[in-house]
Amino acid sequence: MSDHSEKLMTLISEITGQKAVSCGISINKGWFPLVECLLGDIQHSLKYHHDSIGTKYGKDAGKIEFSVGQIKEKFGGLRFYADIGWNSDSVKDAAKASYISGMIAFAESMSCRLCEQCGSPSSPQPEGSSRMVTLCEKHHEERAKWRESKKGIF
Ligand SMILES: [Zn+2]
Repeated sequence: MSDHSEKLMTLISEITGQKAVSCGISINKGWFPLVECLLGDIQHSLKYHHDSIGTKYGKDAGKIEFSVGQIKEKFGGLRFYADIGWNSDSVKDAAKASYISGMIAFAESMSCRLCEQCGSPSSPQPEGSSRMVTLCEKHHEERAKWRESKKGIF
């Protein structure tokens, strides 16, 4: 596992309170800052919810189950799979859940503007007949050369 993946795992562990995080991370380093920001914002949002609801209605009322299943690339975009569970049916909780879902959707959209390798401005492009990749010009060329050298394998 890369240093970046380990850093994200540590952050996820801090947010979820789980010592052993079993989520799969398979993205390139260009998207790590984006995912790091997303996790930081989710952490802030969960803490705020926990503190404000917990203070008003008791500690358990503000307890939120949050876990990350998988962080990966699909069709040239980030996919961030998370479970956001709430132990109350209140409208306030539902609003908070949709707030977090919104942050995830924004990060997934933003990933389609950033090179997977270096984070430079970019857009999804077809690679071969069935794949999309989001790479800047430099990394697209590098990948094309690499693919050329592996011709026959794909
Ligand atoms: Zn790049």
